[in-house]
Amino acid sequence: MADCIFCKIAAGKIPSKKIYEDDELYAFHDISPQAPVHFLVIPKKHISNIMETSSEDSALLGRLLHKAQALLSERGCAEKGGRFVINCKSDGMQTVEHIHIHVLGGRVLSWPPG
Ligand code: 5GP
Ligand code: ZN
Repeated sequence: MADCIFCKIAAGKIPSKKIYEDDELYAFHDISPQAPVHFLVIPKKHISNIMETSSEDSALLGRLLHKAQALLSERGCAEKGGRFVINCKSDGMQTVEHIHIHVLGGRVLSWPPG
């Protein structure tokens, strides 16, 4: 999508600290990290949010989730784990309307969210 910041990041038109890329997925450090490890994994395909997905996206969503855990494991967080978050629309306080999973680790994360 032409005016989507994450489409532009995935296409290399806006700089980012990339940690992984393949034909379908792109992962990069969050610009405002909330934990020692905080990165985002996105599909290159523009999907606004998780409510806009269908069964046709099942394989893509599975790869997204699996890549998220693999990248967190690579960063030394396999033993203690972390947090995998997909904010959605206004009640979820989603601010960038291109589906993304936040992956956080490296410290204890409180629950429940505020
Ligand atoms: P949301 O609130 O939509 O779940 O999360 C969007 C996230 O994207 C935020 O954590 C924010 O810091 C991050 N973000 C927004 N703009 C940029 C950017 O231009 N570059 C990077 N690397 N992260 C961004
Ligand atoms: Zn997009």
